[in-house]
Amino acid sequence: MTTAKQSVAVVGGGIVGICSAISLLEAGNDVTLMDRDDTGQATSSGNAGIISPWSIVPQAMPGIWKQIPGMIVKPDGPAGVSLRHSFQYFPWLMRFLRESKIDRAKTNSNAMHLLCGDAVTLYRDLIKGTGHEDLIVDAMYVHAFRKAEDADLDALGFQMRSEKGAELDLIGAADLRDLEPALSHDFQAAILIKGQARARNPGRIGSVLTDKIMRLGGTVLRADVHDLKPVDGAWDVTSNTGTKRYDKVVLAAGIWSANLLKKLGVSVPLAAERGYHVSYTHTGLTLNNSVMDTSAHAVASSMENGLRVAGMAEFSGIDVPPDPKRIRALEKVARSMVPALKDATPKSWMGIRPSFPDSLPIIQEFRSHPGLIGAFGHSHYGLMMAPKTGRIVADIVERKRTNVDFSAFGAERFKFL
Ligand SMILES: Cc1cc2nc3c(=O)[nH]c(=O)nc-3n(C[C@H](O)[C@H](O)[C@H](O)COP(=O)(O)OP(=O)(O)OC[C@H]3O[C@@H](n4cnc5c(N)ncnc54)[C@H](O)[C@@H]3O)c2cc1C
Repeated sequence: MTTAKQSVAVVGGGIVGICSAISLLEAGNDVTLMDRDDTGQATSSGNAGIISPWSIVPQAMPGIWKQIPGMIVKPDGPAGVSLRHSFQYFPWLMRFLRESKIDRAKTNSNAMHLLCGDAVTLYRDLIKGTGHEDLIVDAMYVHAFRKAEDADLDALGFQMRSEKGAELDLIGAADLRDLEPALSHDFQAAILIKGQARARNPGRIGSVLTDKIMRLGGTVLRADVHDLKPVDGAWDVTSNTGTKRYDKVVLAAGIWSANLLKKLGVSVPLAAERGYHVSYTHTGLTLNNSVMDTSAHAVASSMENGLRVAGMAEFSGIDVPPDPKRIRALEKVARSMVPALKDATPKSWMGIRPSFPDSLPIIQEFRSHPGLIGAFGHSHYGLMMAPKTGRIVADIVERKRTNVDFSAFGAERFKFL
């Protein structure tokens, strides 16, 4: 086990990089967190804020293949592949379909549980003592159905959650109205997933935890990193601010990680799965929980600064501008979920989920590049998986042995993609 203080550069200050930096500092390392922008303000700021031990249902589930043709042809549906990028994503899609077999889906679900099983407790520990503990509040995840008969506790996804200990409840229209008065009366039933939390402002959580990094003695550097280079058992990190040597590097640059890795000859099948939100301030409308419209795959939640409705899974390019059709479609979903929004004008946002076909991230020291640790690819679950990821990253840097098998998070799984 390594005990000497190591210098570690964390490249990318999204929630994954931030949580990694904190765990590394707590383990006694000398940490520099680098981001070209304000930390925590890219994909990590605009998400739906769900923090759940039970988000253990991967995107690739049995039967998903039936939905794919519709996704490709419908330009404003909940999911889609841009025609221009469909060829590029074909191998990814094939692997995604393989991951949807029941045995693979269950294996992936177990690995997801390793990362989000303690999410609520770990966030509360992280935020404790910052004075901003109210950024995380207890909540349920309300899966709302327009047809009562679709609310099926025996559906595979709910079974998976229940097997891992989730407390679920099926309620009818009247109880749903009591629970969420602002929600449309079109919803006829809901399945409640209990024992969760929700973030009231994911972007501010990033800022508050960045302050904590500085209080713990870490350095936060605004730097656009261009190159990572192994030199004499250490790593040179080159950015617009110059080149500096570190004992180890943690690559946590979300979707942008793949490009930095490519320069080292490492290729990973990371898809740019873009999501959107529309946000309504000053409406006075609130929801008490995270509420999913199960037909639109969109989640509405009350944030510090208004009601946010987040969704869409658009496979496209990193640098392609947001698609106004998807924003309009999401506005329509928002109004259909909360009818009193009908005259309100939202602000829109787009962020890029870094997604692998099995819904699992890479968290490992690359065998081909000792001292380089990958921590990216958290797709739909990065907010809730970040604290545990940070702890695993610190263990890897410290070369600590654990009894837990983390092989599901290795890049080798994509060798024969
Ligand atoms: C619509 C939507 C809803 C979502 N809802 C949820 C949810 O409810 N719960 C949940 O857990 N997850 C959710 N997610 C997923 C979650 O937001 C992401 O998985 C997570 O934010 C990824 O975090 P990250 O730190 O890996 O990446 P990012 O937040 O994208 O951070 C990467 C950082 O790296 C920096 N960077 C990139 N390249 C460089 C470079 N060369 N040099 C320096 N810095 C660089 C960027 O500036 C950025 O700050 C949602 C995502 C979307 C889009």
